[in-house]
Amino acid sequence: MTEPASEILAVLIVGAGFSGLAMAIRCRQAGIGPLQVIEKADGIGGTWHDNTYPGAACDIPSHLYSLSFAPKADWSRMYAPQPEILAYLRETAERNGLMPLIRLGTTFRGATWDETRGLWQVETDRGPILTRAIVSGMGGLHHPAYPDIPGRDAFAGAAFHTAAWDHSVDLTGKRVGVIGTGASAIQVVPELAKVAAQLTLFQRTPPWIMPKHDHAIPEGAKARYRRLPLARRLERARLFWLHEVRAFLGFTKVSKLTGQAEALARRHLAKAVTDKDLRAKLTPDYRLGCKRVLISDDYYPTLQRPNVTLETDGIARITETGLTTEAGRSHDLDVIVYATGFDVTATFARMHLVGRDGLRLTQAWSNGMGAYQGITVAGFPNYFMLLGPNSGLGHNSVVSMIEIQVQHVLDCLQTLRTGNRAIEVRPEAQARFLDRIRSRMADSIWQAGGCRSWYLDASGRNTTLWPDSVMAYRRSARRARLSDYRLG
Ligand SMILES: Cc1cc2nc3c(=O)[nH]c(=O)nc-3n(C[C@H](O)[C@H](O)[C@H](O)COP(=O)(O)OP(=O)(O)OC[C@H]3O[C@@H](n4cnc5c(N)ncnc54)[C@H](O)[C@@H]3O)c2cc1C
Repeated sequence: MTEPASEILAVLIVGAGFSGLAMAIRCRQAGIGPLQVIEKADGIGGTWHDNTYPGAACDIPSHLYSLSFAPKADWSRMYAPQPEILAYLRETAERNGLMPLIRLGTTFRGATWDETRGLWQVETDRGPILTRAIVSGMGGLHHPAYPDIPGRDAFAGAAFHTAAWDHSVDLTGKRVGVIGTGASAIQVVPELAKVAAQLTLFQRTPPWIMPKHDHAIPEGAKARYRRLPLARRLERARLFWLHEVRAFLGFTKVSKLTGQAEALARRHLAKAVTDKDLRAKLTPDYRLGCKRVLISDDYYPTLQRPNVTLETDGIARITETGLTTEAGRSHDLDVIVYATGFDVTATFARMHLVGRDGLRLTQAWSNGMGAYQGITVAGFPNYFMLLGPNSGLGHNSVVSMIEIQVQHVLDCLQTLRTGNRAIEVRPEAQARFLDRIRSRMADSIWQAGGCRSWYLDASGRNTTLWPDSVMAYRRSARRARLSDYRLG
């Protein structure tokens, strides 16, 4: 259905996850409008709308993994389950009057900068939109990645990705194969093992796993947080700093403390797994932090259940009845679950964005993605990204990064209310910033840690993560330095 473009928006926000919702709330509070949010899914929540697999939960404590300006006093657990996070995002959107501004089921297809009018002409599958500025909150983790294994279509049973869970399939009493051992796998495996007749976990690389210490938050603490907002803020600050020190504990570069963090994780493994052979299979051979460090209390115990098998041989092919390993072992399966993560560069690589003088984003990024503060790109005026290149995190809550970026974008949007038609990052400021990132990456754990992770692009560069602490990013990006921008 094509709807005519009516008004010219001040801001179009793409995506209704944590990023898009945070941006929309802060724009409304600042009186910036008219604004609209478009969301391709049939509901809001982003990651928390899509990832509904059994056991899905955050792995940063909820009092920290939430918006500072939309607090929730009564999180049920230290690490809230997916339905509670989704409900929180819905309530937050409703309480802040966002629902009438959100167009669900509307996909952003691309946009072209109209230099003469100082506008973006946006294409969506529901018709065109004209807007002064675009804020992308499209997220990096929503294009499911599938392993390149021969015969994937041959399998006769049910097969689905953790990010597109098929709730119509009853796994009770089934033979289930799970491929992958990343963040989603370690959450879903303990839940599936409780109902499956047999669960086979196919592991390529073992992750480093730390204790999670998840627990229900006592009623007394909830009441205290409700009554005393300061107590809740102090808890958030405590959790922030607890995670912030991880940036110096080997989570961004090999440090003197990396060995100690590894020893702690090894003790966690040794305490949980008594079988020597199994322990050997579960011991990583790369430095902690090189891949995402995971937290779990029930993953290792689950792998010792009689109905669970850990298969460490590579998968040679998928057949009509299951999987065959490189050593020639066959595993007959009823269901295959792909816990194989996301294609993080796909969101950006597929974006059809034409900036000033016909420059395409794909051209600007032909040698790899990069953006000033992870937010703006030279040649693309009035275009802003939340959680763009090099602004993801391995050690702390990305919501902290989103809030810093939202403030930066607000500063930029304010300049458009004072007579300027366009704000565009200066190429030299962008180049300086990217040089800083590159030199910091050179001795980072992702480059020096002896592993290959999804953080790295095809040429081996980490264009995904911020290579420092959140506080360092806050200093760098929270306020837009207007001398780094060209106003016009
Ligand atoms: C299972 C899981 C657990 C996680 N746990 C944590 C955690 O504990 N702590 C942490 O810090 N991070 C965690 N993350 C990372 C998580 O993605 C971020 O914390 C956060 O949810 C990102 O929010 P976002 O709004 O930027 O992106 P998303 O949540 O991905 O939202 C992006 C939205 O944009 C929409 N969209 C995309 N393209 C288009 C388009 N072309 N047109 C219209 N709409 C579009 C999508 O449908 C989606 O709704 C987790 C990720 C996953 C997958």
